[in-house]
Amino acid sequence: MQNEVWLRMGSFIGVLVIMMMWEAYLPNRVSPVTKLKRWSSNFILVLCGAAVARLLVPAGLAVVAVFAAQQHFGLLNLIELPYWLAIAVAVVLLDCLIYWQHRLFHHVPILWCLHRVHHADPHLDASTGLRFHPIEIALSLGVKALGIVLLGVPAEATLIFEILLNASSIFNHSNIKLPDWLEWPLRKLIVTQAMHRIHHSQVVTETNSNYGFCLSLWDKLFGSYTEQAKAGDKGLILGLKEYNSETNNSGIGTVLLIPFRPKPDKS
Ligand SMILES: [Zn+2]
Repeated sequence: MQNEVWLRMGSFIGVLVIMMMWEAYLPNRVSPVTKLKRWSSNFILVLCGAAVARLLVPAGLAVVAVFAAQQHFGLLNLIELPYWLAIAVAVVLLDCLIYWQHRLFHHVPILWCLHRVHHADPHLDASTGLRFHPIEIALSLGVKALGIVLLGVPAEATLIFEILLNASSIFNHSNIKLPDWLEWPLRKLIVTQAMHRIHHSQVVTETNSNYGFCLSLWDKLFGSYTEQAKAGDKGLILGLKEYNSETNNSGIGTVLLIPFRPKPDKS
């Protein structure tokens, strides 16, 4: 269990540092809001989310997987597969589950109130990939736990998936642009920055597309894929119209209360 914590922390810090260095060296666009204001609320939100997760599942989601295995419960605990294949299938299916969870957070109004905290960021960088309201983190933990039990996910797969999901989120929110020779082949497999930026466009039809976190397959399979923003990658405006001013975004208290306050007037 101790190794698991170090592995998660190490990969989290490693990916974050690499992407932040890349952004600092070759940024894709300039932020309309000062870094200090965005980063202070985004990183405090990470700490709040981590505290909630620690409180709800102190030993991590692997415990849920062990429980399901002991009870011989869940799809993958009922069918015979080589262990490595069961892990691979489980990671792919969990990624599909998170895709649908993300769609749900956009389409159910009460869930959107929580998820708009993530979309209210007027700029995108690695820190946005960690900017989620603690209640959204708690609900997502519940969805993942349910998925782990129903699918009978092996314990190792929960660890691999959590690391992969975290790394993907930091990676695809980063303020960088991959060269074309890398962007298009890579996008056939995973969600790239240019693909995910479209999801943070202020154009509603674009926000309601490209929901994937890790594999790009799900958007293409379930008809929610947008290849290019109408205004192009350089021209698309990030964030939500109502939350674009500094005052709506600065301070952890303001950000934490976004779900509970009426949308401010468009300005
Ligand atoms: Zn979203």
